[in-house]
Amino acid sequence: MINDATLADTVRRLRLGERATLAQAMTLVESQHPRHQALSTRLLDAIMPFSGKALRLGITGTPGAGKSTFLEAFGMLLIRQGLRVAVIAVDPSSPVSGGSILGDKTRMTELARAEGAFIRPVPSGGHLGGACLRARELMLLCEAAGFDVVIVETVGVGQSETEVARMVDCFVSLQIAGGGDDLQGIKKGIMEMADLIVINKDDGENHNRVAIARHMYESALHILRRKYAEWQPQVLSCSALEKRGIDEVWQAICNFRAQLGASGRLQQVRQQQAVDWLQKQTEAQALELLFARDDFDRYYRQTLQAVKNNSLSPRTGLRHISEYLQNHYFE
Ligand code: GDP
Repeated sequence: MINDATLADTVRRLRLGERATLAQAMTLVESQHPRHQALSTRLLDAIMPFSGKALRLGITGTPGAGKSTFLEAFGMLLIRQGLRVAVIAVDPSSPVSGGSILGDKTRMTELARAEGAFIRPVPSGGHLGGACLRARELMLLCEAAGFDVVIVETVGVGQSETEVARMVDCFVSLQIAGGGDDLQGIKKGIMEMADLIVINKDDGENHNRVAIARHMYESALHILRRKYAEWQPQVLSCSALEKRGIDEVWQAICNFRAQLGASGRLQQVRQQQAVDWLQKQTEAQALELLFARDDFDRYYRQTLQAVKNNSLSPRTGLRHISEYLQNHYFE
């Protein structure tokens, strides 16, 4: 158990790469208990100087696209190269326990057993912002524990993709061809976020469909404005099942890192992500503090009710609330 007395030892053990300590540290960071939060803040401060060295990779895809099959093959490829790999699976569908899209234990069995790997599901507990907030901190813990590549995996539903894209260096979208799914990525704006698009299941009868999808994604990418001047997003295909094309994906990720690293862009992106994170959290915290005030909460609800009854226009409602804030909190 981590406590005040063992904090320094926890940091030391974490830096040695002890997986049991990493798991404990993650549990502490995930705890909502005020005492645990105070402790985990100190822990995160203590490990901060040792974070930042990993390649941060985001991977997204609809359920069934083959994320776990891909990550198993991809992760093992990296392990064989002597790299240590951590996977943080953010699952927007799962409550703290019970049914989930990502979290079941049968996923990535080989990787889960590998000495140099660490896999951690992050249930959303009905609050995705919270899960993503934690995922970023868990990523820092993995870095302090010496993992070379930290992968944040998420399902292609809801806000989680955007959130994950905001915490990684390289964002990979795993797609499948055919079945009307081809346009999903294009429609959903994933193209603007993805640094690499990988079309999975390029095997058996799928080959032609994959070639068509690939062409379509490439055309779409050429129309879009680039995310970075240094990098034209690439479209690749692979078969996670047959373990083909996985090496090429890793090569492309390495090229991406080399290009953005050389220009200093990667560092800029990380700085911006940290600032954005603080900004968002400050806003969330300010709102939380405000709504924790009974008087404001009451006034706010009354105003909402008045707008609902049509006795107040939304615009006048907003003016009333602004005036209330001015008069009560910003005199
Ligand atoms: P996830 O929900 O995105 O994690 O997807 P899974 O990795 O669980 O894969 C969903 C299904 O697709 C499983 O039945 C896999 O065996 C299958 N699958 C995954 N990758 C491939 C592939 O490259 N080719 C083929 N044919 N099937 C695959």
